[in-house]
Amino acid sequence: MSTAPALRSEPHLSVSQISTWLSCPRKYRFQYLDKIPWPAVPSALTFGTAVHAALAAMSQARLEGEEPSLDDLHDAYRVAWAAESKPIELKDGETPEALDAMARAMLVVALHQPSAGRVLAVEEPFRIELAPSIPPLVGVIDLIEERDGRAVIVEHKTAGQRFTEQRVTDDYQPTAYAMASLEMGLPGVKSIEDVEVRFNVLLKLKKPAIDDRPTRRSRRQADELREVALAVWAAREAGIFPPNRGWACATCPFRAPCSR
Ligand code: SF4
Repeated sequence: MSTAPALRSEPHLSVSQISTWLSCPRKYRFQYLDKIPWPAVPSALTFGTAVHAALAAMSQARLEGEEPSLDDLHDAYRVAWAAESKPIELKDGETPEALDAMARAMLVVALHQPSAGRVLAVEEPFRIELAPSIPPLVGVIDLIEERDGRAVIVEHKTAGQRFTEQRVTDDYQPTAYAMASLEMGLPGVKSIEDVEVRFNVLLKLKKPAIDDRPTRRSRRQADELREVALAVWAAREAGIFPPNRGWACATCPFRAPCSR
């Protein structure tokens, strides 16, 4: 399998692209076609990316048969935070130091979560042909574990609150992962329903916690993702990018070009 940058260098779709078009087609155009640079990055995004890097470092160490220390993970967080090249937009009362302390507290919880399986792969890229008339869907699976002889997909997230049941059930990301797992022939996977995907949500609370939410997908849901991807691509080719003004505009990085 090619690397993620190689897959993304070719025409492709991703779950992020599809979700962006569904939330606001004009935002999709600014982000993916016009490629307008963001003036600043919300702190939550940089924080989530940096915690994600620390969790990937934890899984990678375990893949190599080592147990990382808290300092190892915290260092990985700090390197990723420092790598953000754009200005980081802090919320009222937020400081980088307070976020750094929060990250450490969250990583303590992650490090002590009982390990339920053997690590098979970390940051595994995938490419799925959804339909002949559209580019492939590409992405990266955070972690593939083997539990009781079966592959389990783990998706790391950070969030301020528990995911709703609807998000766990309907999010397109697990659908893409389940389809990819089937194509990759992972252990114990004979049909899409065999694939267990777990949202491992690290909660950013005064007392951090993990909300581990298993889910599965069906053929109907795979067909739905295919249908939505075809519709998004058709809209893109036809130049259909209406604005969807609403609550999300308040934090949209494209507020300025959108109001001109
Ligand atoms: S400001 Fe609102 S309408 Fe404009 S691109 Fe952003 S989300 Fe869409």
